[in-house]
Amino acid sequence: MNTPNIKAFGTDAAEAPLKHLNIQRRSVTPHDIQIEILYCGICHSDLHAVRDEWGGTKYPIVPGHEIVGRVTAVGNQVKNFKVGDLAGVGCIVDSCHECDYCKAGEEQFCENGNTIVFNSPDKISGGVTYGGFSETIVVDKNYGVHIPETLDLASAAPILCAGITVYSPFKHWKVGPGKKVGIIGIGGLGHIAIKIAKAMRAYVTVFTTSNSKADDAKRLGADEVVLSTDKQQMKAQSKFDMILDTVSAKHNVNDYLRILKVDGSLVLVGLPVDPLPVGAFNVVHGRKSFSGSNIGGIRETQEVLDFCAVHRITADIELIRVNQINEAFDRLQKGDVKYRFVVDMGSLKN
Ligand code: NAP
Ligand code: ZN
Repeated sequence: MNTPNIKAFGTDAAEAPLKHLNIQRRSVTPHDIQIEILYCGICHSDLHAVRDEWGGTKYPIVPGHEIVGRVTAVGNQVKNFKVGDLAGVGCIVDSCHECDYCKAGEEQFCENGNTIVFNSPDKISGGVTYGGFSETIVVDKNYGVHIPETLDLASAAPILCAGITVYSPFKHWKVGPGKKVGIIGIGGLGHIAIKIAKAMRAYVTVFTTSNSKADDAKRLGADEVVLSTDKQQMKAQSKFDMILDTVSAKHNVNDYLRILKVDGSLVLVGLPVDPLPVGAFNVVHGRKSFSGSNIGGIRETQEVLDFCAVHRITADIELIRVNQINEAFDRLQKGDVKYRFVVDMGSLKN
């Protein structure tokens, strides 16, 4: 059974602006929680998907995958949430529960195909899933996370994607004291990566194409800021253990492979449309790795939320209303945001 007439904001075509839509959500099953959505961040992945830059977008699409809200109903088998709790939903809303990766809490690698919060075939109610630019969402209890009460709700929303996407590789590549870490791009992911890497007590160098963001990078905690368009400044860099690449567009990764130490890793989280050519000598010399990382599992998403609560980390946000979403997407395309748009979803009602 589905509940019709849920208010949402999305689009019917790649070229068309987003507008008010009505969608259906499944009715709450015994294993589900229903959440009234209070805030939803805007990630560059929403923009890539809405504009069909990766191909394969199905319309209508309702984006949004940095969701924070309050639980309004729970199924009779739900023990980990109660009505009135704060809850968050990120990219993953279902997976097979059975493969080795799901059992290990790495649902992002589910061997049988996970369900992404929007634009994924919905195995339970049919059709495709719709994301967080809407009044409510219904998810299986195991795919919701708890939002620590001490975090500001609007600026905590970006932790659900930007936060976990940078935290997971930092954990995997053992970022910590004595490690020299680079972060490329000061956008939604990059700015929160600076805060998290500093909280992990690494030495952090930020690479930016925007001179205007240099002071901010220091304020956010960076030890050094490098203007990546300046050849002299780039030449002076060396011996990074790990460099996290958050850039959303085509760029030259060889500049960064060259400045890794022996056995160092350049880790891509940005998802530019065009391939990124790698010069063989830049990885062969120094046994370097060019790798990637994809969000993180549900357990680790809870872990990063708790980590952020302990270290008092949230995103620097511009809080907007639903009717400003199209302008926000245009500004995000131009890199004109400091540093994450978050939508007040209450504004969908009026
Ligand atoms: P964003 O806020 O737009 O930030 C991207 C930053 O990249 C910009 O602020 C800019 O930083 C830099 N940049 C942009 N164009 C560039 C160019 N042509 N050359 C060099 N630098 C450029 O985007 P975001 O939300 O952080 O997302 C970043 C990327 O990560 C997107 O591709 C998104 O789809 C992807 N993503 C991946 C995952 C995953 O699981 N792997 C999860 C979430 C997002 P400066 O001004 O400082 O240079
Ligand atoms: Zn995202």
